Amino acid sequence: MDIAFCTIDNKKYDIASFSNLNEQQLSNLRRALVCQQCQAQGYYRKESRDGKSACFGAYHKENCKLKTQGSTSQIILEIVEEVNVISTNNQVIDIAFGAYELSRNSSTNNPISNIKSTSTTTSQQHTKKPIQQRNSQRGLKSLLRMLTHTDSFASSDIEINTGTQPPIKAKNLFVHFDEISKKHVTEWFGYWGIISHANPKITWLNIANQQTVSILIRDSLKNHLLKRYKIDIAEELAGALILVFGELKIAKSGKWYIEIDNDNPEHIFIKIAK
Ligand SMILES: [Zn+2]
Repeated sequence: MDIAFCTIDNKKYDIASFSNLNEQQLSNLRRALVCQQCQAQGYYRKESRDGKSACFGAYHKENCKLKTQGSTSQIILEIVEEVNVISTNNQVIDIAFGAYELSRNSSTNNPISNIKSTSTTTSQQHTKKPIQQRNSQRGLKSLLRMLTHTDSFASSDIEINTGTQPPIKAKNLFVHFDEISKKHVTEWFGYWGIISHANPKITWLNIANQQTVSILIRDSLKNHLLKRYKIDIAEELAGALILVFGELKIAKSGKWYIEIDNDNPEHIFIKIAK
């Protein structure tokens, strides 16, 4: 994407003029970049030390002219189907918070996507109420994929078991960064969306929109994340998709931030932008 539109100052930028902004302007304006064709959220990444030039990127909508062709459509169809299956079978999703660590330490490719049945099944009957409850386990990676690639999952009645009782409907559990408002303050949710960038010390992940909400990353969590995602510098986080479970708080300075439960690395999943 050669040109990005900034919704804070309502200006179009090419990469050279955006890169020439002073540090404070850049840090402010990069939070609110969109694709000028489809208005999807975008991001800016600075020139990297290993020679990659500065660039804009965006999560283009399906029919956007600027979307690069690839195999993504097939993957999206599969994810939509996955959500349909969960929904029509009245499955309850058990969140496997530790799935990322498990899958990395295991020899199987994708242990978290296996659907397990809580008891031995006879035949499926066409009744409104299921004969037994079927639980389906999903890790944060899988949840973020469903949130990102389908409109239906985030607003669905699919029940999610977070480990506390009772299960919570997806529509009451997940909050997109753009939807954050006063009513969420002091509340625990699965917050998700795009971050524009991290500060150089990676103590804050700044969410991509005009609200100045950030995710607090304390040292212990930071060290874990840098290792897990092989991150060397803050710029690698520009434009990443994120799902975190935590509480929205307001600092004494008035800054809004999300604090991850006990700084638990199992309660955050990051998909680095390509
Ligand atoms: Zn676009």
